[in-house]
Amino acid sequence: MNEESIKERVDNFQKGFHETHREIYETLHDNQNPHTLFIGCSDSRILPDQILQSVPGEVFMLRNVGNMMPPFEKRQDYPSPVSSMEYAVKVLKVEKIIIKGHNDCGGCATMMMDPEILKDLPQTLRWLELGPKLEDAHRYNLKGAKSEAQTMEWLNILHQMEHLRSYPWIAELEQQGKLEILGWYYHIAKGELFQYSQEKGFFPISI
Ligand SMILES: [Zn+2]
Repeated sequence: MNEESIKERVDNFQKGFHETHREIYETLHDNQNPHTLFIGCSDSRILPDQILQSVPGEVFMLRNVGNMMPPFEKRQDYPSPVSSMEYAVKVLKVEKIIIKGHNDCGGCATMMMDPEILKDLPQTLRWLELGPKLEDAHRYNLKGAKSEAQTMEWLNILHQMEHLRSYPWIAELEQQGKLEILGWYYHIAKGELFQYSQEKGFFPISI
């Protein structure tokens, strides 16, 4: 993307999407009231707003390698993701938190590799410690996983949902029915979206 093409894209944005959503932007000029906190992987192949067809002000976004949320007992070590979550839930009072993983996830693949391969990426190695252990897969309904990689991707979504629920105030809001926590899985090439339930495992969200 060179400078010319950036200018052209911004110009197209201003005359296109921004213009057609002018009323929404003007309403939102000094506040936001998103209904959802989206925790997704940083992977460039995923465009959450396009998938969700969301408009400005709807989705509070947190993205990082492997769509992770540190657990309550480690919150002091990870102020960035935890503060995004705190703000979305306590101040913006979102009604939903979606943890969304995806197929072909480099973060999840790396969690299963020898840590030695990350010797030049010590912070990445430390970050990936927030991931699950494959031997915990039996605790969930992961029937239908096509590979060990997919089992890990599914398991990671559920592991991060548990991390979220380890915050007492999150668990309380969920029990009161004021907050819904969802686990989603996205297939990049097919554009398919799946949601987890203990009963059905990962099932397709379709029309
Ligand atoms: Zn990923």
